[in-house]
Amino acid sequence: MKAQIIRTAKWAKRTLKKLRPVDERGVLSPVRRINRVALSERVCAMTFDDGPTALPPEPDHTGGRALTDHLLDVLREYGAHATFDVIGSTAENYPDRAGKPGTPQWGGIAYDHYPDLNCDDMAGAVSQSRLIGRILAEGHDLSNHGYRHIIFGKKGVIYGKRRYLQSGREVYDDLKKLDDLLREYHGYSLSLGRPPHYVDRLPDGLTSYDIYLLLGYQYMGASFDGDGWLPKPTYDEEVRAMVEPMRALLEADPDALCGQIVFQKDGYNMQKRTPVADGLAQQLELLRKYGYRVVPVGELTALSQFEDLGPDDPLYPTVSGLLRAGYTVVYRDNRVKLHLPVTRGELAMFVTPRDELVRTVRERMEGKPLSAIGGLDARHPYYGAVRYTLERGLLSLAGGKFDPAAPITPADLQGLYPQLGGSDVQVSTARADILTTLFTLLGGSGAGR
Ligand SMILES: [Zn+2]
Repeated sequence: MKAQIIRTAKWAKRTLKKLRPVDERGVLSPVRRINRVALSERVCAMTFDDGPTALPPEPDHTGGRALTDHLLDVLREYGAHATFDVIGSTAENYPDRAGKPGTPQWGGIAYDHYPDLNCDDMAGAVSQSRLIGRILAEGHDLSNHGYRHIIFGKKGVIYGKRRYLQSGREVYDDLKKLDDLLREYHGYSLSLGRPPHYVDRLPDGLTSYDIYLLLGYQYMGASFDGDGWLPKPTYDEEVRAMVEPMRALLEADPDALCGQIVFQKDGYNMQKRTPVADGLAQQLELLRKYGYRVVPVGELTALSQFEDLGPDDPLYPTVSGLLRAGYTVVYRDNRVKLHLPVTRGELAMFVTPRDELVRTVRERMEGKPLSAIGGLDARHPYYGAVRYTLERGLLSLAGGKFDPAAPITPADLQGLYPQLGGSDVQVSTARADILTTLFTLLGGSGAGR
């Protein structure tokens, strides 16, 4: 019944999204939500949330082995590698009490508790140091899923009674605590994060993307639900729900999982069961049959960065080169969108070094008063870039205003290129041409950073 409600809520959300006017453009962002990447090879990534978990699977066919140990055994058997999206500890998430079994509140009304209420020391990097050590020793990666797994801002309907973090500062401190712990005790530097329950918007206007920028992370999304987290009437049905959709997808198109990121859970579902303990091997068996390599997300993005521009595209080295040089040329949804015309706000973002965007977010997080510039207030995602380009005379106001949505003109580029060291540069307002020119001026020639 609850599962049905959740499915209906998800369906309603998808439908509403479709009905809303299409916001195809989105915003350029130094932090991209990587759900999947364009790739023709049979390689996919697998991610496991909420562990590591020292309690045994339920039902247990392993003789009492820690769930994470069991998952690692299975991965090793198949030569597969994954990203473990770990927490620190939920032990501070009290006072709290359990909600109704089979609902999202089963493990706590005010907070999440992993692996379960009143046994918080059986999961997380703080008390399960050995499991973190084993994950790393066997070639898997880690991602930051929040020290206390508290949501970043309010989430209505299903999680209405949940406590949530109030500000960018609180999120930063929570994530930094886990970041420091993994660096100090395991020598591991995190570069990925996934917010608890994918909640992104904080009451103070900052978002998970802003805080990930400060920490040097990319946002780890997912494109294929490995399932196993939604309860079904029986355990066997839960295991089948993990395997059958994947089988059907691959039978219809053996390449369907190329470049995809699979979501899994390293913990209990709402019925306190762990179908992943049996479902994982069956999924990996399928993937092996179709010739897939299963890798951590970091390895997947080393093969291909973007969702709509693959490594075979002639423009791939240009866009990824600009990215490496510290420039923001890709949208927050990890698409390059070469077909879209460039706006003035976007041109400002293209030429602004990442450090400048970091500085703006830090100032906002610390509550520094920032005055409006060209009619843009500090909450605008392009505020830092507009400030940078106007202060340096790279772009100019029009009638005392800077309209970030206005299309660029050849005059914008004729003013910009000479200041970046370009003489004799052909002016074209096509996105691909601008990126190619900027790559020469900023990244490719070594003149930029
Ligand atoms: Zn989680």
